[in-house]
Amino acid sequence: MTIYGAVEGGGTKFNCLVARDKDDILAEIRIPTTNPQETMAAVVAFFDEFEQSHEERIAAIGVACFGPVDLNLSSATYGCITTTPKPGWAGAPILPPLQARFNVPMAFEVDVNGAAIGEHRWGVAQGLTDFVYYTIGTGIGGGAMVNGNMLHGLMHTEMGHQMMPPLPGEAYAGYCPFHGHCLEGVATGPAMKDYWGMPAEDLAPDHPAWEREAEYLAIAMHNTVCMLSPQRIILGGGVMNQLHLFPMIREKTLRRLNGYIQRPEILDEIEQFIVPPGLGNYAGMLGALAMAMGAFEAD
Ligand code: ADP
Ligand code: ZN
Repeated sequence: MTIYGAVEGGGTKFNCLVARDKDDILAEIRIPTTNPQETMAAVVAFFDEFEQSHEERIAAIGVACFGPVDLNLSSATYGCITTTPKPGWAGAPILPPLQARFNVPMAFEVDVNGAAIGEHRWGVAQGLTDFVYYTIGTGIGGGAMVNGNMLHGLMHTEMGHQMMPPLPGEAYAGYCPFHGHCLEGVATGPAMKDYWGMPAEDLAPDHPAWEREAEYLAIAMHNTVCMLSPQRIILGGGVMNQLHLFPMIREKTLRRLNGYIQRPEILDEIEQFIVPPGLGNYAGMLGALAMAMGAFEAD
């Protein structure tokens, strides 16, 4: 049976696995994110050692990495990180070290698109052709499937950097080094900590922080519904572990849309329209696996 490699590249760790399928994982490793050379050498070594010790070949590899990344197949820097503020990682080659060692089909995506692909194959986006996946964690990413394909365009979407109008009475400049008061600048874990003076996970459920958080995320939902007309929106990431946010975001989204979008999916069934990921914290890693399977099938 075919064996696949998967890499979920994050700012703190690179999760790698070798698997035959979602429920048939053969090997797994977490590599701390240090510098690009050391980190990618460890990723290559993991797959190398698997092949040596099992005498089996990996048939395809999927890589979903933090970004922004270059997804343009005809670009000289395809498979590399572009402008990250993460020290040492701007321009870092992610796919090239794997391509240099393994001559198999590969798929490369920005992390949130990988998670979306995982949800499409096995999670709450099965059967959909148009949906959006947001992750709200250390940063905010948003990826869209449009007509059955992840939306790439020039590179990939950067929905975390949509601008946010300040809520009434709020004079906060915002936490994003590029845009100040964008979604990432007001609603990530670190932005919440900056605004409220304590980590998001320590804020009590009745703290006003959640009302503000839900309000900004509802503005993002409004923008997303109006701009991409998705059939569903998935909200994942560390901050969304606060499940009480979901009913608040749904109610505020309905209020903000104000009856304008006359679709039962929104007006009557918003509980199924704005949802948590079906794969939980595994969406990214399983997404990379789904990408590897897709690359093999397409080859
Ligand atoms: P990353 O984005 O680094 O991949 P996460 O999605 O776990 O990882 O996001 C981490 C951020 O989410 C941190 O800023 C943290 O404060 C916040 N966070 C993690 N767990 C919770 C929680 N249970 N409640 C609120 N915020 C959380
Ligand atoms: Zn920004």
